Order: sequence, then C-alpha cells, then structure tokens
Amino acid sequence: MDFRFSEEQDFFRSTVRDAVDRLIRPRAQEIDEVDEFPKELWKEFAALGYLGLRHPEEYGGMEADVMTSMIFYEELARGSCGFAMAVTMQILMGTYFIGRFGSDEIKARILGPAIKGEKIGTICFTEDQSGSDLAGTKTRAVAKDGGWVLNGRKMWITLGPICDFCTVLATTDPDQGMAGLSFFLVEKGTAGFSHGQVIKKLGSRGSVTGELIFDNVFVPEENLLGEGPGGGVKYTTEILNEVRVMTALNACAIANEAMLDARQYALQRIAFGKPIASRQLIRSKFADHWAWYEAARLYTYQAAWMIEQGLPCQHECMLAKMFATEMCQKAVDEASRIYGGNSFASEYAQQRFFRDARFLLFGGGCHEVLRNALGAAFLRKGSS
Ligand SMILES: Cc1cc2nc3c(=O)[nH]c(=O)nc-3n(C[C@H](O)[C@H](O)[C@H](O)COP(=O)(O)OP(=O)(O)OC[C@H]3O[C@@H](n4cnc5c(N)ncnc54)[C@H](O)[C@@H]3O)c2cc1C
Repeated sequence: MDFRFSEEQDFFRSTVRDAVDRLIRPRAQEIDEVDEFPKELWKEFAALGYLGLRHPEEYGGMEADVMTSMIFYEELARGSCGFAMAVTMQILMGTYFIGRFGSDEIKARILGPAIKGEKIGTICFTEDQSGSDLAGTKTRAVAKDGGWVLNGRKMWITLGPICDFCTVLATTDPDQGMAGLSFFLVEKGTAGFSHGQVIKKLGSRGSVTGELIFDNVFVPEENLLGEGPGGGVKYTTEILNEVRVMTALNACAIANEAMLDARQYALQRIAFGKPIASRQLIRSKFADHWAWYEAARLYTYQAAWMIEQGLPCQHECMLAKMFATEMCQKAVDEASRIYGGNSFASEYAQQRFFRDARFLLFGGGCHEVLRNALGAAFLRKGSS
C-alpha cells in the first residue's frame, strides 16, 4: 500500500490552495454576512477553469480523475462553505446529467457556458413533502407531442434563485415509485418555469437557496436525461457516491479549519496567568480532533480511491460521509468551547464554522437514513 498522493496531485493541491487563500478566504466572512451570491468572485474563480473539473476538454473542461477532484473539493471547503456549495453544485450535480446524457447540441449550448461560469446550473430532487424519500416525488412528467409536460414544485434548491438551467427529478409513473423517476433538463425562459421563495439560511450562506416552480412546462424529448422513462434514476447512486465523499472531505476541511483557528486562539488567550493552550483539558481537545480527523480523512480518501477503481463502494461512501461529518460536528463544537464567550461573536470565524457544519448532516443523505441502510447492510454481511 502506498498512501502518498502523486507529484501531480500534490502540485494540483498547492495550486488550488493558493487560489483559495488568495481569492476566497479573505472574503469568507463577507460572503456569510451579506448572504448574496458573490458574482465577482464567481467570475474570477471561473476564469481559473475549475468549473470544468470533471468535464471533457472538448467543452473546455479539465477531465480530472476522481482523486484529483476530491483534492479540489477538500481545498475549496477551507475557504468558504457557502461558496464551496455553489461551486460544487455547478461542477458535480448541476451539470452531471447534462454531461453524461445531453445531446451534442445541448452540451455545446449549456455545458460550455457552464464551464466558463456564464450559465449557472442546479439539481432538483427535494420537494416540500419529500426529501430523503425520493419515491414520494410528486413532480409529474407526462408525455405529450414529442416531449414532456412537467408540473410540480421543488424546494431547497441550491443556486435555485439564480439558475439558468436545472436538472429536475420527476415521475413519469407514480405507481412505479423509484422506478418511475427520470431527470429532465429545464432552462430559464421556458414558459411555466419560475422561481418561488428564497430561503434564508442558518449557514452555508452565499450559495442562495430557494424554490422552483414548474407549471405546465413543456420540454422536448431530448431534455429527458437518461435512458428512457425511469432509466435515469439508477445513476443517482453513482453520483451520490461522489457527492457523499465530497461532503466528507468538505467536513474534514471545515473541522480542521475550526481547530487550527482555535489553536491560534488557545496559544494567545491568557486565563489564570497562562495561555489556555497549556491546560490539559484544552490540549486533549486537540489530541482527540487530530485522531478523529486523520481517521476520517484517510477513510474518505480510501472511499474516493474505490470510486476511481470502479469498485462497489456504496456503503463505504455512506460510512465516510457519516463518520467525517459527525467528526466535524464534534470539532466545531470543541473549537467553539476553546473560544469561550468569543465563539458567539460574529467578528470571529468560529460561529461561521459552527453554523456551516450543520448543513453537512443533510446534504448527501441524513444520517438517520444512512444509519438505517448501513445497519441493515451490516446485518446481511458475512463474517468479513
Ligand atoms: C442548505 C441546503 C441546500 C440544499 N440543496 C439542495 C439542492 O440543491 N437540491 C435538492 O434537491 N435538495 C437540496 N437540499 C435538500 C436536502 O437534500 C434535503 O434536506 C435532504 O435530502 C433531507 O430531506 P428533508 O429535509 O425533506 O428531510 P426528511 O426526509 O423529511 O427527514 C427529516 C428527518 O427524518 C429522518 N428520516 C427520514 N426518513 C427516515 C427513515 N426512513 N428512518 C429514520 N429516519 C428518517 C431524517 O433523517 C431527518 O432526521 C438542500 C438542503 C439544504 C439544507
């Protein structure tokens, strides 16, 4: 076993880190406070080419492999969780089905501009009454005149309020449950497609979240992304594997940022005549974090490696997401305790880490749902 990254991957990490340190970190507090989509930063970041991380060079992409893209997601989350959410939505979920199933014409019209940051995309699974339970999807697609008519509402959509296009999960046959679900491309300007309420959020601010409404929206047949009605949903697991590992690395990054920031504070803050860093109870928080963080990061990169090798790894990706995200909750909690009362002050980043970390518990699957699936899988498992 060789746990080292390649020289190219190390170089890539340092390049991304430099961009994040230069462009994003100095603006992180402002992004959180203003809670608007940071258009200027988006343009500057898009110019670096990262929005095409996973897409073919033909459309202006970088065609990075899974491990390289995971390095990117980890470094990105060191900057601003909200901005990272916006960028990863555009790179991964927001353009995945178009890159995979879109016609050449759709890709030229949408993917190229999306990679340049000129068009913004998102994915719509969640509805008011169905989040974890996708089989409960009510948005309906009915075949008509060589295309599909969509009706429904989607809730909690990242970049929803500003999106130019979206991939929408809808049922073509409600009696079929999961097997009746398909993905459809809908573009801004299509009759009947509109933006609903904007949701004010606890954390991950700047990624702007809201509701999308589909009222008799007609899309042509080629906008059905996937293999025929009901076919597209089997790729959801595949993309969710990557999303879960990405979320786990976001969690590792936020956890470590919070603890590194708390370390600075602990070394400088004097209580009872000494820096608080000299106290055993404070030191033990750093020791615990170090152990859990390294374990979470190592396991997460192993899951990423399994995706890259094409190995079955649905459970490993779930485990990584669950473990790393819970490690992160613990880290932001302990880091804020080290800050004492100052953890409540908006001038310090600690309160932002604390709020941002909460989103990671839901994105890529709520932990109760993951635990259900993992517990059942463990019961079926053999002796290994
Ligand atoms: C900031 C943010 C951005 C988001 N962006 C997007 C986006 O871009 N696109 C999108 O489609 N969605 C998005 N979502 C929605 C997100 O995917 C859902 O919140 C998530 O899937 C959970 O669904 P829910 O909120 O409806 O919770 P529910 O499914 O209603 O779950 C509520 C609680 O019940 C538990 N629960 C549910 N089922 C079970 C079960 N079988 N056993 C045990 N416990 C269970 C859950 O674990 C949870 O604790 C976003 C959410 C947030 C907060």
